[in-house]
Amino acid sequence: MLSNVYHFLKIQFGLLVLLLLLLPVTGVQAGERLPEPEIKKVNDRVYALLGPIGFPSKENHGYMVNSAVLIGDEGVVLIDTGFSNEIGQHLKNTIAGITDKPVTHIINTHHHGDHILGNTAFPDAEIVSSKMCRELVEKHGYDWIAILENTTGKEHPDTRPVPAQTVYPQESHTDVTLQGISMEMWVPAGSHTPGDMMIYLPQDKLLISGDVLVKKMIPSFVDAHLGSWIETLAQIEKREIETVIPGHGPLMTKADVKAMHRRMADLYAGIEAGYNQGLMDSEIRKILDLSQWKKMKEFEGQMGININRAYLEIERESF
Ligand SMILES: [Zn+2]
Repeated sequence: MLSNVYHFLKIQFGLLVLLLLLLPVTGVQAGERLPEPEIKKVNDRVYALLGPIGFPSKENHGYMVNSAVLIGDEGVVLIDTGFSNEIGQHLKNTIAGITDKPVTHIINTHHHGDHILGNTAFPDAEIVSSKMCRELVEKHGYDWIAILENTTGKEHPDTRPVPAQTVYPQESHTDVTLQGISMEMWVPAGSHTPGDMMIYLPQDKLLISGDVLVKKMIPSFVDAHLGSWIETLAQIEKREIETVIPGHGPLMTKADVKAMHRRMADLYAGIEAGYNQGLMDSEIRKILDLSQWKKMKEFEGQMGININRAYLEIERESF
């Protein structure tokens, strides 16, 4: 009997040694650090935290989004929290290096996982979004965790979707003051997604746009309405704006907004012309001038899907 116990323990010990030997191998991935954001000071109370540009991957741990930090009287308003609890914590640490004030408010610009799944890292903050964004977080939040785990090749057990407590209705403009900062919650007609919300700070001539505006990165049309998006871009152009903190890529100017508006309108017109000639989207892709788009990150992975989405929208609306 004793020898049986001894034998059993020996096997257990052997397994333990094996596990310990394996640990450093599996630990390499987990030990790698998240990429650091590029910190851009816009003015004394506004900072942009620019994440790496590109799709989520093992290398970036899913960190590939921009956030905006607004430092108010007693606390910080953080706009967009990253793709995971881990990234949310990373942003929290970065903010602690800028100000001692706690994050008291979170604003989510739309429901896509890269913008909302870090909300869990701020359990004491009030979360704000459009009403439609909240519905889409409730409906699709866990789908985005599956995308996160697939693309980063690891589990994210601390990450879960946390929908907003305070919401603004579709196609509305609401002036609010958070932490002493005047801002307009601008919910346009569904553009990049059905639940976009932009934040405009008139005193700072600043727009925080979510993915309604992006630079150097192909915008995703997967949940978009192109017609409304192009109209929203025209409305943005009419605003007094010096700086845009976009959803992805470097800070933008009014000239960048105009360039994106023209690019989107030209693309839509080109696809519509092809549709009216009776061409399929794959045929239209071959005759479109995509030189402006080819320079952007993730062109190969996203452009075909985008042309297909625009084509389907034009087809749907021509009935
Ligand atoms: Zn995004």
